[in-house]
Amino acid sequence: MGFGGRDDYSSPPSNPNRTLPFPRIQPHPTIENSSENQTSDPSYKPHILRNNPPNLNTQFFTALTKKILKDFYPKTCPNPKCENRPLEKEISTHPELIRCSKCRYLTSRISYTPLHHCKLPLWMFGYVFYESLLQYPKVITATEISKKLRIGTNAASLLKRRFQLFCSDQLPKFKSLTYESLSHQFKDFLLPPNENKDITKIMAKRPYVCVDTAVLYSAGERASQGRKRYSHRGQTSSIYLSEKLGGKQIGTLVQTIAIKNGPVFFTSVPNQKAETLGPLIREHLPTTTPLFTDQGYPWLWGVYRNHRSVNHSAHSKDNRFRWARNRWSKNGVHNQVAEGNHRLLKTAFSSYGYIRPKYSQLYLDEFAFIKNAQVFGLDTLVDSVGEDEGSCRNRDLFSPRSGATAGRTVGIRGKG
Ligand SMILES: [Zn+2]
Repeated sequence: MGFGGRDDYSSPPSNPNRTLPFPRIQPHPTIENSSENQTSDPSYKPHILRNNPPNLNTQFFTALTKKILKDFYPKTCPNPKCENRPLEKEISTHPELIRCSKCRYLTSRISYTPLHHCKLPLWMFGYVFYESLLQYPKVITATEISKKLRIGTNAASLLKRRFQLFCSDQLPKFKSLTYESLSHQFKDFLLPPNENKDITKIMAKRPYVCVDTAVLYSAGERASQGRKRYSHRGQTSSIYLSEKLGGKQIGTLVQTIAIKNGPVFFTSVPNQKAETLGPLIREHLPTTTPLFTDQGYPWLWGVYRNHRSVNHSAHSKDNRFRWARNRWSKNGVHNQVAEGNHRLLKTAFSSYGYIRPKYSQLYLDEFAFIKNAQVFGLDTLVDSVGEDEGSCRNRDLFSPRSGATAGRTVGIRGKG
C-alpha cells in the first residue's frame, strides 16, 4: 500500500535462483586480513562464486559424473589400429571431451548417452544422481534442483529429465537380474496343490513376490465436474475424466511387481485388463514363481501354477462381524509387499504435486531404479555390461542376508 515503485524485497530483478538470495554480508575485519580469506588469495576468481554455489563440492560431482559415464557408457577408440582401446585421456580445459591416449582421437564423453547435447556443467548431473540416491525414499523435485544449483526451473526440469532417462535406460538390467535370480531359485518349484494349506513356512526363506495395482492422482468427481464416471470399472474409472468432458486420462494407474526385501518394478498402465497386465507380469517373472495377489487377477492361474490370491472382501462366518479376520492375510498368502511399496510410492510422489500420465513411466522408472540400486548395489549393473550369461555371479541377490552393500560402483552407502 502506498508504494508505487518496485519493492526490492518482494520483486527481485530476475529469477531469484540465479542471484544470491540475501545481501552479501561484509566480512569481519579480523577474518579479512587472515590468509584464509579468498580476496587476498592471488588465484581468487570472482566469477567462480557466481556460477558455482559455494557450498557444493563441484570437483567431487564432476568426478562422479565422469565415473558414471565411464562405467555405464564406456567409449572405445574406433581406430582399427587401437583395438578398442578405452578413451581415457582427459582434456583439462574441456571436461566433456575425452581422447584416445594412442592416436589422439577426440570425442565427446556425453554424446549418445542420456546427457547427449546437455549444455549444463557436468557436475550438475552428478549432484542430482548423488542426492537422489542419498535422499531415497524422498524424491528430488525440479524446484529443489533449481534452488540448490541456482539454475532456472526449465534447466532444472531438463536436468531431472536427463536423470530419469538414465534410470529408464539402466532399469532393464535390474529386470533381467531379477528374472534370472527368480528362475534359478524357483526351478521346478510347486506350492502344495491344496490351497487351504498354510504356506508360511514354505515361503519363509524364499523371495515373496506380490503383484498389485494402485492409482496415483485420481480424477475425483470434482475434476469431472460432478458427472458420474461409468465407462470404466473399478480403479480404472478413477484415472479418466467423465466421457462428457472428453474422457481423457488424467490420473496414473500403476502396476507394482514387488519382492520382499528386494527389487520393485512399477509400470504405468492404461487399464486393468488381462491383456494389459498379463504380458507385463510374464515379462518380469518366470512362470514357476509363486505369485501373490488380491482377487483382481483370476486369469493368472492358467499361466502361473504357483499363483495364490487373498480375498480382501471375505465375509465373516460370525454374524456379529461384517468382514472376516483373515481377509488381508490367509494361510500365509498376502500382498503386503506390494501394498507397502504403494505406500512408499504415494508418500514420495506427494512432493511432486501432479505428474502428467504421459511422463508417469519416467517418474516410476526413476523411483524403481533408486530403490533397486539400494537392493542390488550399482556394481551389479556395471558387472553385467560386458558379462555373458551363465557366469558364476551371486544368484541369491536379494535375500535378506546377502551383502549387496559392500563395494559400490559409485561410493554411496545404502541403508543400515
Ligand atoms: Zn586410438
